[in-house]
Amino acid sequence: MSGSAESLQQLKEGAKRSIDLAHDKLHALSRDIWSCPELAYQETRAHDRLVCFFTQEGGWEVEPHYKLDTAFRASWGPDSSQKGPVVRVGFLCEYDALPGIGHACGHNLIAEVGVAAAVGLRGALQDKALLPVQVVVLGTPAEEDGGGKIDLLQQGAFEGLHVVFMAHPSKEDALYLPCVAEHDVTVRYHGKASHASSYPWEGVNALDAAVLCYNNVSVLRQQMKPSWRVHGIIKHGGLKPNIIPAYTELEYYLRTPSRAELPLLKQKAEGCFRAAAVATGCQVQVEFAKNRFDNMLRIPTLEQLFQANGTALGMNFTVDEEVLANESGSTDFGNVTFEVPGIHPYFYIGSDALNHTEEYTVAAGDEKAQFYTLRIAKALALTALDLLMNPEQLTCVQMEFTQAKNKETEKERSMLAAFTPAAGVESS
Ligand SMILES: [Zn+2]
Ligand SMILES: [Zn+2]
Repeated sequence: MSGSAESLQQLKEGAKRSIDLAHDKLHALSRDIWSCPELAYQETRAHDRLVCFFTQEGGWEVEPHYKLDTAFRASWGPDSSQKGPVVRVGFLCEYDALPGIGHACGHNLIAEVGVAAAVGLRGALQDKALLPVQVVVLGTPAEEDGGGKIDLLQQGAFEGLHVVFMAHPSKEDALYLPCVAEHDVTVRYHGKASHASSYPWEGVNALDAAVLCYNNVSVLRQQMKPSWRVHGIIKHGGLKPNIIPAYTELEYYLRTPSRAELPLLKQKAEGCFRAAAVATGCQVQVEFAKNRFDNMLRIPTLEQLFQANGTALGMNFTVDEEVLANESGSTDFGNVTFEVPGIHPYFYIGSDALNHTEEYTVAAGDEKAQFYTLRIAKALALTALDLLMNPEQLTCVQMEFTQAKNKETEKERSMLAAFTPAAGVESS
């Protein structure tokens, strides 16, 4: 083993030791967040608990309410006033829960992983305080609803970071799962109320518009690319059978594998929404959410380094083609990958339960999840050390990031060129 390889190995041992030593504190942290589930943008207790953790640790510069009420930033190492280049490594924490079922996506464990990996990396570098490295933890709220990372990106919270890491609980270890672009849309129909039996002809039925809208989209589904997804619900369907509904509301999620394809799907869906209004005489409002979630860009070098570290720690990454090709959700981490190179692997937490179920909530709070949570935190910290101690790897990461972004821009350009205006209703 060469001298530098030997010292990298020592640093890695130091990172693992630091995480193991903090085991009880880390477990208590995620358990506290789990016990008090809070919805997107309302994660005040989780925010305070995480801020308190870093304040008590000492040595961290902590910025509570960083750009958003329930976001925070904690950093260790040389600040921006230091002369010469500083490599900034970011670890992201999520901590929002789901309505009704608590931490069914295990975001309490995501918070723990982010904190643990940062504690591990700091522990390894502690005696090398002169290394120009800054460890940054960003508390990013509202992943399940709204996209807090997108708000933070818009406010420059990721500027200056060279690489970002996070990990998401799942039912298996996976290096990568396809994360697709997504945009939420709310459709509102305004009609006119009337007695449904005495004067139905005086009414304009907004429920008919909602039903036609739902059916139009269902018909569209037959012509969609197999990789596209449109799924929706009727949120308001009227008040009483004997009142012609004057107002109805639907919410849809539109998804495509790449953000380049999303405008086309949005245009087709919007045609369905508007046609229902024309057919019923209702007024329609189509309102897309403020934030669009992007697909995730992949950085092969980061994945390879992480895979080697994870495998050495006993992680068992799935090779099931069906899982790797089809399991797709959306995350605001996708948007981050267009700004900073990063990875977002998935980890088994000791249960076969599926995310977003009550069984998963139980598993995310179970002590059994701790071993897997700290193991992936170690794998992330070790991957950061690989990059820091081998600057040529970091250069590779930057190159792959630029290539991935250019490829997406090219895709967007060609989609735009092929884009034709929506077919209108021709009048004779
Ligand atoms: Zn989720
Ligand atoms: Zn999640």
